[in-house]
Amino acid sequence: MIFNLKTELIIKEQLKSNLFKFGVKSKEIADIAKPGQFLEIKVSKGIVPFLKRPISIYNVDKQKEIVEFIFQVKGEGTKTLSETNIGEEIEIMGPLGNGTFEILKDKKVAILGGGIGVFPLYELAKNLKESEVNIYLGFRNKEMVVLENEFKNVSNHLIIATDDGSYGIHGFAIDELKKDLEEKQIDFLYACGPLPMLKAIRELSIEKNIPCQISLEQRMACGLGVCLGCAVKKTKENLEDEFAYSHVCKDGPVFDAREVEI
Ligand SMILES: Cc1cc2nc3c(=O)[nH]c(=O)nc-3n(C[C@H](O)[C@H](O)[C@H](O)COP(=O)(O)OP(=O)(O)OC[C@H]3O[C@@H](n4cnc5c(N)ncnc54)[C@H](O)[C@@H]3O)c2cc1C
Repeated sequence: MIFNLKTELIIKEQLKSNLFKFGVKSKEIADIAKPGQFLEIKVSKGIVPFLKRPISIYNVDKQKEIVEFIFQVKGEGTKTLSETNIGEEIEIMGPLGNGTFEILKDKKVAILGGGIGVFPLYELAKNLKESEVNIYLGFRNKEMVVLENEFKNVSNHLIIATDDGSYGIHGFAIDELKKDLEEKQIDFLYACGPLPMLKAIRELSIEKNIPCQISLEQRMACGLGVCLGCAVKKTKENLEDEFAYSHVCKDGPVFDAREVEI
């Protein structure tokens, strides 16, 4: 079930100069949202920009019926959205996406996140409370590090790495995961972040033969599988014909890492 709702902005927090956390009241979406799903958000009250913008669900509070998302101001759409004030109306469609994160019990899992890709991983980690959760987050520098305490609260082991060493471990988060994999058994991998990070974890999962789900971002318009704008190529194993594609909005955004060519 997908809802298109007009609701009210009830939480607005500026986490960084260009990063906002918004919360809206929606029993409909809070009741059914699954980790990895996203919303299409109308960013302005007028018709420009016309297209809604896809933003991942960061946190769902089913009891309070609140759905939260975090977004970076990138262009016109997210800038306009950031100017919405508490109490103002906001139009959202969701929950969207049929490919969602698998919630495992009694397993040892590792979650790898990078930059603004970390946001959908919080709801995932929160839902994995019956597994051992190891989290590896990478950011460019100290200024970009977000949600450290939030991730600490939903993990058994948390590593923060920065590319320039200005906070946490100096280097790539995936290298810390690789080191830990030499000593500990991990049953399942999850990742969301920049493409090079996703390519690296895809390779690692194949090399170590560990199942892996990745969440992909593609520019998209409708969010419903109608415009077919967010195509990704399927890997050879699943290629039904020469031009087989999956669509991030409808088949994803979460995919088995072996299923897509990235
Ligand atoms: C499934 C999904 C989930 C997402 N979740 C989040 C989230 O939780 N938080 C968040 O901050 N952003 C998220 N995004 C990205 C977000 O949708 C874009 O940043 C936003 O649409 C940009 O809109 P804009 O009008 O501000 O910028 P535009 O003017 O449309 O674009 C500005 C620049 O941003 C880049 N850009 C735009 N869309 C994307 C995209 N989809 N992927 C990569 N780069 C893009 C392009 O380089 C473009 O030049 C998600 C995208 C998808 C597809």
